Amino acid sequence: MREKIFLTVRSRLAIWYAGVMGGILCLSGIGSYLVMAHAHWQSLDRELASVAGTFHDILEPVLKSPSQLSPQSKQILPELCIAGSVCNVSSNTYIHHTLGAIQQEGYYLRLVSLSGKLLASFKAQPADNSLVISTENWQTIVDQTGERYHQVSLLLKTAQGQDWGYIQVGRSLNDYDQHLGESKIALGIGIPIALILISIASWWLSAKAMQPIYRSYQQIQQFTADAAHELRTPLATIQATTESVLRQDTLSELEAKDTLKTIDRQNQRLSQLVKDLLLLSRMDSHTHQAQRQPCCLNDILNDLLEELAPLAVSEAITLKSDIPTTPIQIIGNEEQLYRLFTNLIANGIRYNHKGGEVKVTLSHKDHYAIIEVEDTGIGIVPEEQEKIFERFYRISSDRSRTTGGSGLGLAIAKAIALHHKGNITVSSEPGKGSKFIVRAYANVI
Ligand code: ADP
Repeated sequence: MREKIFLTVRSRLAIWYAGVMGGILCLSGIGSYLVMAHAHWQSLDRELASVAGTFHDILEPVLKSPSQLSPQSKQILPELCIAGSVCNVSSNTYIHHTLGAIQQEGYYLRLVSLSGKLLASFKAQPADNSLVISTENWQTIVDQTGERYHQVSLLLKTAQGQDWGYIQVGRSLNDYDQHLGESKIALGIGIPIALILISIASWWLSAKAMQPIYRSYQQIQQFTADAAHELRTPLATIQATTESVLRQDTLSELEAKDTLKTIDRQNQRLSQLVKDLLLLSRMDSHTHQAQRQPCCLNDILNDLLEELAPLAVSEAITLKSDIPTTPIQIIGNEEQLYRLFTNLIANGIRYNHKGGEVKVTLSHKDHYAIIEVEDTGIGIVPEEQEKIFERFYRISSDRSRTTGGSGLGLAIAKAIALHHKGNITVSSEPGKGSKFIVRAYANVI
């Protein structure tokens, strides 16, 4: 069920990714195709206009009477083929280099009378012979063979200023169409391939995006299971105790007191657990507006060393300290700071060997107060050093349970350190001991 939900969300995410990226790709592909086609068309227009303009300017001064070709025009364009006469065109006839463009493959030129009759032509021209002069001077023609041509028509005037006829310069659109056709094929093949790659990438990316959600979902599940497990133990003890008492007909005062003591102990354990969970959840949601004031770390640590001395004595541990006399203060919540250091020092005592040591050191560096709690205890293997800050995580479950630990101590310590713009790290060697270092932002030193 859970897997199905994640699979559905992943598929949706992948479809959205693929859809958006595919859409962008298609739009940019089509856009670049249109821009390229437009640029190509414009350069084509410019070239035709320039060739036509050049011929127009050269021919006009030598034109005498309307629709009549003067001998000089034949000199300018020796290859000009007069309509109705047999054309003997030699391909290597010299043409002035400014007219070179017209010699390119697919270009043609024709001179047309005002009534639309072909007077002369130069190079192969459309097979339609449609010499219709439209009001627009740009035309795109399709000849009988289906080939497309683009041409420009300019009005020619005689030297005396009379309308002479038209000059038409055009070119075949074969290479243009072929070029665009190739681009279309490239897009037609490229876009589907890109879409397939995008779909694969989207599927992979959506898995990546889902990973943190999946991990936190698993953490929540684990947390719920752990919390339920921790709550179940004292509840089961209370239930067993009350059931066994209820089964008895009579109860001595001593037995009643013992029963109540057990229930009270378990009740305290439950209350502590619930308090810890509430504290963590408030810190997570940042709703915990704990009162903040300047806190003297020297005083807090000295107080705690005094308070925890009986526990250390009972476990045969020597408490040592290196706390300077100059006060080191941080802005924070005193209650929380007490809690943080109690957890660390108490752990140092609990997870220690008889006759071991716990040393508490206070110093400051830059703008940070540094508190070190070092013990000569059982130590923590490297693989566990990160995990011990997770909620309900316990390495030595049995030992921790006998000491009343629930696995929340270090998680709370870390949350408090983070709330004081600090952090908490551990370095440890199994069998030799551990060192917990708390760095807290000390704006008042
Ligand atoms: P607990 O309530 O079980 O002590 P903590 O969150 O305080 O939970 O610690 C998590 C686990 O980390 C403990 O169960 C213990 O195995 C390990 N641990 C914590 N402090 C020390 C220490 N000073 N030395 C060795 N192991 C430690």
